[in-house]
Amino acid sequence: MATCNLGAHFERLSIHDENGEDQKSRVKPTATSLAHSSSRPKLVKLPLQSQKNSTSAASPRKAPPTRKPLPDAAPPNLAEAQQPDHHSVAPLIPQPSPKTLHLGLFEVGKPLGKGKFGRVYLARERQHNFICALKVLHKTELQQARVEKQVRREIEIQSNLCHPNVLKLYGHFHDSKRIFLVLEFAGRGELYKHLRKAGRFSEPRAAGYIAQMASALRYLHRKHVIHRDIKPENILVGIHGEIKISDFGWSVHAPGNRRTTICGTLDYLPPEMVKPGGGGGSEDRSYDEKVDLWSLGVLMYEFLVGEAPFEDTPVMTHRRIARADMTVPAFVSPEAKDLIHKLLVVDPKNRLPLEQVVQHPWVVKHCVKGESTKQH
Ligand code: AMP
Repeated sequence: MATCNLGAHFERLSIHDENGEDQKSRVKPTATSLAHSSSRPKLVKLPLQSQKNSTSAASPRKAPPTRKPLPDAAPPNLAEAQQPDHHSVAPLIPQPSPKTLHLGLFEVGKPLGKGKFGRVYLARERQHNFICALKVLHKTELQQARVEKQVRREIEIQSNLCHPNVLKLYGHFHDSKRIFLVLEFAGRGELYKHLRKAGRFSEPRAAGYIAQMASALRYLHRKHVIHRDIKPENILVGIHGEIKISDFGWSVHAPGNRRTTICGTLDYLPPEMVKPGGGGGSEDRSYDEKVDLWSLGVLMYEFLVGEAPFEDTPVMTHRRIARADMTVPAFVSPEAKDLIHKLLVVDPKNRLPLEQVVQHPWVVKHCVKGESTKQH
């Protein structure tokens, strides 16, 4: 059972469900009542363009893909959500079969935010009183933006992941117009908002977050998943202050392959994805999971300084990323500087591996084992 008492947040809202049976007395939310996600003022978003052998469905130059139904939901393991960590255990509560997952099972509450393609609501699974977040995506919008393949990939990847610092996707279902994602509820919202409010994070707080990120990325990379879009906007904060990587829209399952698709946010892109000829001396822009190590370095810099290291005009940002041209301000400790310099390395092969990130003196100094999720 969900332990937090969030009942007060619930008001009855109407999301018409063509498949659901339970349509009892819900009140429709007004568009203006929906919270909009914060936007990064200076952030330059790269057009989602595809390079050779692209796997991106978001390329505006591509013909729209044929509309295919999403694969059937993985079993919505709602009992699993009540487990304290990511170790798999036998479910204690009988599981609903995938076919029975529908909107009527949920009481839909207050809007939590609005993304590019959908709205996210607080929700409660009625039978088990289980609190979750329900993301509603409109199929026509996904089709128009040609991101169906991206969403399908996001669902496939995220539903197979289970780690305390990775936002859990419990299940999904759809009706003729919408796709619903049943997500873990991150009670403290976006990390980006916390960072903007704080200006910058203290070193102990940043170290706790970096340790959690490194743990989550190690898990993802072991599963051959490259996130490719690590940035504060894609990290949520759980009720205990622990961080949760979300937004797997740009992630790929890449067992043994080097990828060639350009994606993500310019400020966080590594040299091998911006530089003709790639980093590490290769002739193409191929890259591997080490792109996430670079992004971890950018993230760490932004946590400690309050802005990304290569923020500039788009042309200059490209140039500076290609040369790892940045300066860490004097107020940052020498140990933190050392770790940033070991992650923001042009040649991907020479970036500090994740196993060594968690053992780095700066992380060790600030994170007593088991306390990296401590609230600051
Ligand atoms: P997204 O479409 O995933 O970018 O989500 C839009 C906004 O909804 C986010 O910026 C968050 O503020 C909020 N949100 C999304 N997912 C969750 C979640 N699982 N728990 C809490 N808030 C969320």
